[in-house]
Amino acid sequence: MDPLVARMRPFGTTIFTEMSALAVRTGAVNLGQGFPDTDGPASMLDVAAEALHSGHNQYPSGPGIPALRAAIAAHQRAYWQLEYDPDTEIVVTAGATEAIAAAILGLCEPGDEVVCFEPYYDSYAASIALAGAVRRPVTLRPGPDGRYTFDPGQLRGAFGPRTRLVLLNSPHNPTGKVFTPAELAAVAGLCVEHDVYAVTDEVYEHLVFAGEHRPLAGFPGMRERTIQISSAGKTFSCTGWKVGWACGPAVLVSTVFRVKQFLTFVNAGPLQPAVAHALALPASYFSGFRDDLRAKRDLLVAGLTEAGFVVYPPEGTYFVTADITPLGGTDGVTFCRELPERCGVVAVPTQVFYDDVEAGRRLVRFAFCKRPEVLTEAVSRLGKLAA
Ligand code: PMP
Ligand code: GLN
Repeated sequence: MDPLVARMRPFGTTIFTEMSALAVRTGAVNLGQGFPDTDGPASMLDVAAEALHSGHNQYPSGPGIPALRAAIAAHQRAYWQLEYDPDTEIVVTAGATEAIAAAILGLCEPGDEVVCFEPYYDSYAASIALAGAVRRPVTLRPGPDGRYTFDPGQLRGAFGPRTRLVLLNSPHNPTGKVFTPAELAAVAGLCVEHDVYAVTDEVYEHLVFAGEHRPLAGFPGMRERTIQISSAGKTFSCTGWKVGWACGPAVLVSTVFRVKQFLTFVNAGPLQPAVAHALALPASYFSGFRDDLRAKRDLLVAGLTEAGFVVYPPEGTYFVTADITPLGGTDGVTFCRELPERCGVVAVPTQVFYDDVEAGRRLVRFAFCKRPEVLTEAVSRLGKLAA
């Protein structure tokens, strides 16, 4: 008998682990799991190395070292015009993942409901289950213009007397959708109307190619009810560092902090000064990073289109989704398991991120955070599918 608690039994090995192992086993180009194949800014790595060799190897301060909390506050002000007190309104976490888990575990009683958009990032479902809460998904579907949108009626219908919070990810993984100001205003309006909290996952805040990133916390009535989460992993190409943070009113940040204390207590001591340094890099770093990823997006979108997929070009993130139907595919999981054999490339089936599996049955996701020569090789291999 499986000794795992019942609420975790639906969760096996993550699709990212499965697909990265498949890539290693088959020697395929891994466009599955989203991690860059180059390091982040050299000066950031230097600060980390210096910290390792200068005595920053013990427990850092509980809520995060003051220099990092100050840098997070300055970054929030500079980019999003949001003010947070570094002493009471910011906590450093073990990646965005821990911040999300701690927020949900800290706010939800068993049976409380969490409104989220599907496809959802896989840790959301697990954290909601760990809390004994219930997810209320709202489905994103690609429209005729290739943009993913949702039915406002489904969004409104997802709110009810047990709703505790809305979990919103924009720019959105895996669809690449950047929620528009009107869509965000609709979400904000419902949060205020139902007097519920929002937890926002903004790890791709600097990767927007079309439109603009607008934190939900900036909408009327939202600052006081929103826990805004981000991390260094994506912005500074250091996904293995797991340095994240949560910002919000003191009373909400305190819930994250109190739970976080008993998940990891503290994390990433010598890496925290390095992330503080990186957050203060000139604006040209952030725009240069985005422009680099935009060129990679264009390369992969063109290659996938050429290979015969129906492609939904992303407005943000470093992922692109595509429909496999024109290539004879009827199921993304089967398609992705066979893809290394067929052409030596690994992708991720997005159906595993839906409760409504049919909505994502034929969709797969490719990551483009790779060196241009790797993307070119992948595109050339994918070209065999059209032949
Ligand atoms: N949320 C989303 C939408 C992600 O794509 C990821 C992966 N970076 C995370 C959260 C997890 O972030 P971290 O690695 O900082 O825990
Ligand atoms: N965030 C990355 C992705 O979506 C990987 C996360 C993970 O492996 N858990 O691909």
